[in-house]
Amino acid sequence: MKEPLEGAQHSKSTDASLSGLRVVLVRTQHPGNIGATARAMKTMGLSDLALVAPQAPPDEQSWAMASGAVDVLDAMQRFDNLAEALADCSQVVGVSARRRGISLEVSDARSWAGQWAAAPAGRTAIVFGAERTGLTNAELALCQRAVQIPANPDYASLNLAQAVQVLAYECRMAALGGLRGTRPRRPADHATMEGVYEHLERMLVATDFLDPDKPRHLMRRLRRLIARAEPDKVEANILRGMFSAVEKYRGDR
Ligand code: SAH
Repeated sequence: MKEPLEGAQHSKSTDASLSGLRVVLVRTQHPGNIGATARAMKTMGLSDLALVAPQAPPDEQSWAMASGAVDVLDAMQRFDNLAEALADCSQVVGVSARRRGISLEVSDARSWAGQWAAAPAGRTAIVFGAERTGLTNAELALCQRAVQIPANPDYASLNLAQAVQVLAYECRMAALGGLRGTRPRRPADHATMEGVYEHLERMLVATDFLDPDKPRHLMRRLRRLIARAEPDKVEANILRGMFSAVEKYRGDR
């Protein structure tokens, strides 16, 4: 049964950079994981799946686990060795739970996805190892860097397709910059915010909250607090309206 595409508010046209991602499964043992990987990919807008020397060939379990992502499975490319699957990729990252003896730079999934989205350079392969053994040192040696999912140190080994899901999700979030549909933030300009801070200070002095002879970094702290919220113009005006109301209340008494 096809599942509803609930919450699928990201249209294909925004997924351009995601189409440059290739998921490479190396020496996979369980055919079901190949299908679950296809599903994990499609839900996140990825479609380029490569299978390298599986220990068991894709079978009916693969297609069953792929659910509505059989198209990804049908289009899957098969290779005899990892080097062939990477031949047309300009970036290669190895996804590995363990720190291996080789001196690859290791990033967590979120940081790496952020870097990738900031500068997507041609086709990028994300390489996943076999269920029991993970990626060998020889396989990691073909990668430019390693990516880790910082999991529970007492049990850090995710199911293969779930590891694919995490990476695909992080890439999607990084590529789309979060939920589309949320309006782009337009923080108020510098002059507006300086007006807010001056007004706040006047109000705080008028209400005796701030002693101008003993300011004690109060304004600096409040500036930092307000700046963190990045108010837009309307919000800046609300703040000034509040300050005016306090001043008026104080003046009336
Ligand atoms: N025992 C193996 C685990 C293999 S799990 C090992 O220690 O390497 C199968 C694949 O899923 C791994 O090769 C890796 O690509 C991915 N994976 C699972 N858990 C992960 C984690 N915490 N961080 C990064 N990749 C992980």
